[in-house]
Amino acid sequence: MSYCVAIDGPAGAGKSTIAKKIAKQMGLVYVDTGAMYRALALFMIRNGIATDDLESMNTRCEEADITIRYENGEQVVYLNGENVNAYLRTEEVGNMASVSSTQPNVRKKLVSLQKELAKTTDVIMDGRDIGTCVLPDADVKIYLTADSAVRAKRRYDELTAKGITCDLDEIEKDIIDRDHRDMTREESPLRQALDAILVDSSYMTIDEVVETIIKICEEKRGN
Ligand code: C5P
Repeated sequence: MSYCVAIDGPAGAGKSTIAKKIAKQMGLVYVDTGAMYRALALFMIRNGIATDDLESMNTRCEEADITIRYENGEQVVYLNGENVNAYLRTEEVGNMASVSSTQPNVRKKLVSLQKELAKTTDVIMDGRDIGTCVLPDADVKIYLTADSAVRAKRRYDELTAKGITCDLDEIEKDIIDRDHRDMTREESPLRQALDAILVDSSYMTIDEVVETIIKICEEKRGN
C-alpha cells in the first residue's frame, strides 16, 4: 500500500508551494491535480469552446489525452503528446479550468488518472476533492485555507514580481468567484473532509505551514 497525503483548499492558499516542499522533505512524489484540470481547460480554449458551452466541455474532453510524467523531479503534463506546462498558469486557463472542472466527464477522466497514480507511488496530492473523493483513505488529510484578501495579495505579489501589471481588487473578485464555483458545484464540491485537519495559513510563513503539516504526518505515523 502506498503512503498518501491529501491537501485540499481554495485557490491561492499556497497548496502547491507547500506540497512541493513537503514532497522533497518527506521523499514523496508531488501530484498537482490543478495542472491536469488546467491542461484540459487549455484544450477547450485551443478548440474555441466558449466558457458557457458546458455541453461541449463534457463531450469533447474525450478527445484530450492527458499524461503525467516526472522529469528532473518536476511534474510535466502532456496534452495529446505535447508538454503544455508553460501554458497552464495564466488567469485565462485558470478561469476556464474553474468552469470546465464542474463537468462530470471532465472529473471522471482526471479522477481515475489521479487514483491510478497514487496506487503504486507514495504521493502528496493537492486539489479540491482529494480527501473527499480521489483518496478517501489517504493517510493524512489537510484542508489548507487562508483569508481571501491574504490569498489575493499573495497572488498580486507573485504576478507583480513577474512584471505583470494587475489589479488587486480584480484578483480578489476572481478568487471569490472561483471559490464560490468550486464550493457550490454539484460534482465533488470543495469542502473539508470530515477527517481532514484544518490549517489556516493567513498569518503563517511558508516554512511554518510546512513544519506544521510534517509534524501532523509524523504524529499520525507514530500512532
Ligand atoms: O489549483 P488550481 O488553481 O491549479 O486549479 C485550477 C482549477 O481546477 C480550480 O479552480 C478548480 O476549479 C479545478 N480543480 C478541481 N479539482 C481539483 C483541482 C483543481 O476542480 N482536484
